[in-house]
Amino acid sequence: NKQIILKDYVNGFPKESDMELKISTIKMKVPEDSKFVLVKNLYLSCDPYMRPRMKKTEGSYTDSFTPGSPIVGFGVAKVVDSAHPKFKKDDLVWGITGWEEYSIIKAPDSLFKIHNTDVPLSYYTGILGMPGITAYGGFYELCSPKKGETVYVSAASGAVGQLVGQFAKLSGCYVVGSAGSKEKVELLKNKFGFDEAFNYKEEQDLSAALKRYFPDGIDIYFENVGGKMLDAVLLNMRIHGRIAVCGFISQYNLEQSEGVHNLFCLISKRVRMQGFLAADYFPLYQKFVEMVTPHIKEGKVTYVEDIAEGIESAPGALVGLFSGRNVGKQLVLVSRE
Ligand code: NDP
Repeated sequence: NKQIILKDYVNGFPKESDMELKISTIKMKVPEDSKFVLVKNLYLSCDPYMRPRMKKTEGSYTDSFTPGSPIVGFGVAKVVDSAHPKFKKDDLVWGITGWEEYSIIKAPDSLFKIHNTDVPLSYYTGILGMPGITAYGGFYELCSPKKGETVYVSAASGAVGQLVGQFAKLSGCYVVGSAGSKEKVELLKNKFGFDEAFNYKEEQDLSAALKRYFPDGIDIYFENVGGKMLDAVLLNMRIHGRIAVCGFISQYNLEQSEGVHNLFCLISKRVRMQGFLAADYFPLYQKFVEMVTPHIKEGKVTYVEDIAEGIESAPGALVGLFSGRNVGKQLVLVSRE
């Protein structure tokens, strides 16, 4: 059983060498008097929240990973053996699993059965998995979009951002996205249908860039990045604007968060800014799937994935999120069946 192990807690930018491949010869067997499930992992998801879990954290919403043990994260798997009444051999599932070829899952509450297989299975790490419900809940539930409003999305070509942009277009909004390369900016405009897009790395003055695209201000900001970007956005928000605080990826590798200087804009502009977790919206998962699946089938919503092949490539794929190497949802193919 090949496994990807976190060697030790990580400081600063994560490196591939913070993880190592180990081959375990321990026989994987489901204890009969348990409710455990043995799964074969097919796809593993690389997500930015995994970085905070690589350091020793206390009081965070997620626990630290355990050095010396396999990384834990979302994935798609096939049930090989089950002592749990809800799951049987050959069921396809998505949810929390281990970065290894086979895992024994002790809490199958975090596994969802896959019923619809006429979309790519890998979608359950992205558009039909945690990033999908994040985009759906954060945008529709928290931002209450109205036709004609102006929407800005940062890290817009990624797992979550590409969907938020498409949902904003479906809602009749004007939407602008930013990303870190020319290729990604092209994708935003030509594949995902953003009205405008720009490369934030080429802008000296982020606030001036935002003014160019939003001369009358931003109604909705879907925040993926934090730091300087958030500060520039605050200056450009409209009165009664909304900010969904999804993530702060620019801050995850810093020892100390950068200061935000323009928070007073929340008061002067009566802006509502709210943080949220994907898990808040898991109860809406069925409603979300019913909304998004017909759009996928009709080609009205599209999804770009960046698939690394083989479990050995998982550390590099995860680390790549923090330099923007991924184009679209980053995942790892472990086995096709
Ligand atoms: P992505 O697929 O967007 O991958 C991360 C991207 O972030 C990179 O490709 C890179 O794109 C960009 N990035 C990396 N470092 C920086 C930086 N210093 N400044 C600006 N951009 C940077 O990831 P996801 O879509 O999965 O996640 C996006 C955000 O949503 C993250 O902040 C994540 O933590 C958050 N999130 C929150 C959830 C919740 O429950 N609240 C659930 C899921 C995600 P580029 O080339 O454009 O720089």
